[in-house]
Amino acid sequence: MLDRIRNFCIIAHIDHGKSTLADRLLELTHTVSAREMKSQLLDQMDIERERGITIKLQPVRMKYTHPTRKEEYTLNLIDTPGHVDFTYEVSRSLAAVEGALLLVDCTQGVQAQTLANLYLALEQNLEIIPVLNKIDLPAAEVEKTREEIKGLIGCRDEDIILASGKTGAGVEEILQAIVERVPPPKGAESSPLRALIFDSYYDEFRGVVASVRVIDGAMDSRAPLRFIGTGRDTQPLDVGYFTPKFKVTDRIATGEIGMLVTGLKDLKTCRVGDTITLTSTRDGVLQLEGYKEIKPMVFAGIFPKEGDGYSALRDAMERLVLSDSSLQFEPEHSRALGYGFRCGFLGLLHLEIVQERLRREHHLEITATIPSVAYRVSKNDGEIITIKSPQDLPEQNHIRSIEEPWMNVDIVTTHDTIGNVMTLVQEKHGEYITTEFLASVTGQRRVILHYRMPLAAILVDFYDKLKSVSSGYASLNYEFFEMRPADIIRLDIMIADEPVEALATLVWREEAFHHGKIIVEKLKGTLPQQMFVIKIQATIGGKVIASERISALRKDVTAKLYGGDVTRKRKLLEKQKKGKKKMMEMGAGKVDIPPEAYLAVLRRS
Ligand code: GDP
Ligand code: MG
Repeated sequence: MLDRIRNFCIIAHIDHGKSTLADRLLELTHTVSAREMKSQLLDQMDIERERGITIKLQPVRMKYTHPTRKEEYTLNLIDTPGHVDFTYEVSRSLAAVEGALLLVDCTQGVQAQTLANLYLALEQNLEIIPVLNKIDLPAAEVEKTREEIKGLIGCRDEDIILASGKTGAGVEEILQAIVERVPPPKGAESSPLRALIFDSYYDEFRGVVASVRVIDGAMDSRAPLRFIGTGRDTQPLDVGYFTPKFKVTDRIATGEIGMLVTGLKDLKTCRVGDTITLTSTRDGVLQLEGYKEIKPMVFAGIFPKEGDGYSALRDAMERLVLSDSSLQFEPEHSRALGYGFRCGFLGLLHLEIVQERLRREHHLEITATIPSVAYRVSKNDGEIITIKSPQDLPEQNHIRSIEEPWMNVDIVTTHDTIGNVMTLVQEKHGEYITTEFLASVTGQRRVILHYRMPLAAILVDFYDKLKSVSSGYASLNYEFFEMRPADIIRLDIMIADEPVEALATLVWREEAFHHGKIIVEKLKGTLPQQMFVIKIQATIGGKVIASERISALRKDVTAKLYGGDVTRKRKLLEKQKKGKKKMMEMGAGKVDIPPEAYLAVLRRS
């Protein structure tokens, strides 16, 4: 019954209303009752709900009867994140469907992630259904946005659906369009099973649960399955789908999207991108293409706060990777921080989310080091190494050259903010490529500025600055371009004469002094006072380049004394002085560095 199945994603720039529209689709198809409905229902993780952003793809199945065809269809929807750090979630979702709803908020117009996600969808040859969203808002600019969309994908006026996820306007029309315009899945029902794993998560009781798209054949919970890539067999516990509650079903048939409950506790068996077939299939079944290995861009060390937390952290990381396949990690040992992991992320938001999930979902206390991009170092002895941590940088006299990652950067902004944006990008070492105009009949024209920029310059507060110089209008997307030579040195931070490994950074030589000064000032502002004087220093190769002091907290030990006895007062002060000295000797001079201090260093300019 392939012709009764439609698989599609919702893609858009962040906040253009994907999850809210998904709510309306669930409601209109009676998948979720009014009583169970809550806004952005598919954002099921605590962090997603609190922050109001989607960070994971989320599949859900609906039944819909087309009003004139009078036929019931199975619609598999995948809601996706919009932030650039979670693009891997989007690209995996797109590979599991035949169509995409492309949402554009008509008060914002086409934005950087609209373009990026559209191009991803076009690469997969998906049918694009353009939806102009949020038409209920007073600031809606329907005509202008329509022109932008037409200019972008070359469609006709009547192809664009006007909708509001808030009021429900246009939502019925969207459902009909999905049935009429998205092609049904292809596949051979009588062929041996082939299913693509496009996502997974770990369930305490049911083991690894995988999101699958069945390409050929069918799977059920009776026949043993084989993961072709890892070569492992398993007897599944259940198959089912989300509504968005998990529902057990008989089988997942050709063309369908569903969930496989593997029961596996061995987390390495089930890999995203792998192909599942039946163990009983004798002849070699061809493995599906899977996914390109994703390349992390930003690296940071994650260590347990307490020395004995390593194995708990390892278990947590292994589980996290199941539901976050863009996260990478390898064991690392640091003299100061002990045993932990060097982790690769797609960006700073990704890093932040991972840290928060470790704390919340796994109840771990962790220390994370200042993130850094990966540098490529050619040594004098001919060896080429990748540096993912400031500690790994070889001695200056062993280094022949260092290269850093440069990105292709697209910025969408309004015409009158171009000047500001250009100045900012220049300050950040950006290289101008071209400008494109978004089509528009009325109002202000908007542009796409193409640049190349070092990733290191994008990571440090570039986005915040971009937003502020463009009065909030500009949006940003970037992807890896190439490695280019860079003059990099290590900037160390000493607090109370102790080097703080987690605060070390790799910086451009020409900016080292400037950064060093700002960092010590920021630390002075964020570190809590102690019973002793704290020295804060920035050093390069052992040479102090900037320094600050935080004065000691003075507890008034004489407060309880009434009246004149000078000798008693002096005695108390003397005792306090001795106490402080003893404390320093016992190593109590160590300063606990609060998370704000890390943030201060990170947002250093
Ligand atoms: P997503 O990031 O694309 O998933 O966007 P969300 O669905 O989380 O919505 C972002 C914000 O826009 C939320 O505050 C929604 O309440 C709001 N929103 C979404 N759709 C509409 C709409 O059609 N009209 C109005 N007025 N607000 C909307
Ligand atoms: Mg969302």
